[in-house]
Amino acid sequence: MSEPTARPPSVDALARSISSSGLPHPLCVDAARQAIAEGDPSRAADIANSIAAALLVPVVNATGVIAHTNLGRSPVRVDRAPRAQNLEFDLSSGQRGSRQTGIGRLIARAVGAEDAIVVNNNAAAVLLVLAALADGRDVAVSRGESVEIGGGFRIPEVLEQSGARLVDVGTTNRTRVADYRKAITKRGNDIALVLKVHPSNYRVEGFVETTPVEQLAELGVPVVADIGSGLIDANFPWLTDGPPAWLAGEPAARQTLTAGADLVTFSADKLLGGPQAGVVAGRADLVAQCARHPLMRALRPGGLVLASLHDTMLSYLSRDASTIPFWRMATAGLDSLRTRATAVVNAAGVGSVVECASLPGAGSTPGATIASIGVAIDGDRTERLRRHSPPVIARVSDDVTILDLRTIDPDDDDVIVDALRSLD
Ligand SMILES: *Cc1c(COP(=O)(O)O)cnc(C)c1O
Repeated sequence: MSEPTARPPSVDALARSISSSGLPHPLCVDAARQAIAEGDPSRAADIANSIAAALLVPVVNATGVIAHTNLGRSPVRVDRAPRAQNLEFDLSSGQRGSRQTGIGRLIARAVGAEDAIVVNNNAAAVLLVLAALADGRDVAVSRGESVEIGGGFRIPEVLEQSGARLVDVGTTNRTRVADYRKAITKRGNDIALVLKVHPSNYRVEGFVETTPVEQLAELGVPVVADIGSGLIDANFPWLTDGPPAWLAGEPAARQTLTAGADLVTFSADKLLGGPQAGVVAGRADLVAQCARHPLMRALRPGGLVLASLHDTMLSYLSRDASTIPFWRMATAGLDSLRTRATAVVNAAGVGSVVECASLPGAGSTPGATIASIGVAIDGDRTERLRRHSPPVIARVSDDVTILDLRTIDPDDDDVIVDALRSLD
């Protein structure tokens, strides 16, 4: 007779033995059950760690990509006490109000629009505009702008979902105003609006022609411009040194409206530097039509997001880039980055100070880089750095790990020192 095999530990005892993972008991039980089911109870702690690693935690972005889509795009400050807010309450009248009134005014003022509303992201903004203004009708889009932005945002599919019909205009590389006019006057077409889309994350070069908003504005149908990145104003009044050289050619909300667009839509968490949200701004009657649409209820943002976006827009209107983390990082001087990098290397006793290049990120400004300063360590150390608490996310180039100081909040330099000291 063979020896009786050791009884597996009880789920409960194993779950309690991994309580130091910090996970609530039910999740320790899940880890224990899975380890026992796999026939290897000793794996319970590892499984618990992988459950913990999937929870949402603050991380240090040392990648050099400022608005890193995988790291929540633009970093924003959120420091509110648990208090009620006048989200839908008019303090002057004591009556019910709209969550859009206050934020709409701030955005409209910043971009020079009559009015503005906020939804959950720019994909929602485009969907809402098309559903509210073109349901059952035709929308003219240049073949060169019928784009996919990433993460499943494809213009033809968004149009289909909205109930509007896509009318392709022009060719992939060249679309002239005459092509739009032909689509508008063609018998059988019922063009409700022209949609111009900024092909944010790619660029076509060579024999290329697109129709500027100024010309589209003369067609006699509303022009909606999805400008994508949410650059507020091409004059950058919030930056003391004026337009940054790396951002040439990015469309801005204010100038697109001045050029004659009836509406613009954009993301709040790309170059705007706010929380995840989408904006529809422009003619008051069209904004009101969007706000009245039944989809608005499903797409409306919560009070946390609106409070954060309020703060961001107040910073713009106060012309104070230092309180918008995206712009503070994007415009940090090389001397200050080098000073910080040198201090980090000296304190950690490892690594060296190197020149590197940051990216604005969020699928905007393809090819644009910002000169930066980093700390380099030989070899790929990214896994160890990810396991640090808080996790440090770095990048590897030619078997050298680089931590780019531009995207690291100066308050986290100590974290970097600690993480580097803990490397073998
Ligand atoms: C990024 C982008 C979108 C999608 O915006 P989200 O806020 O990520 O939903 C749509 N259109 C354009 C042109 C973009 O650049």
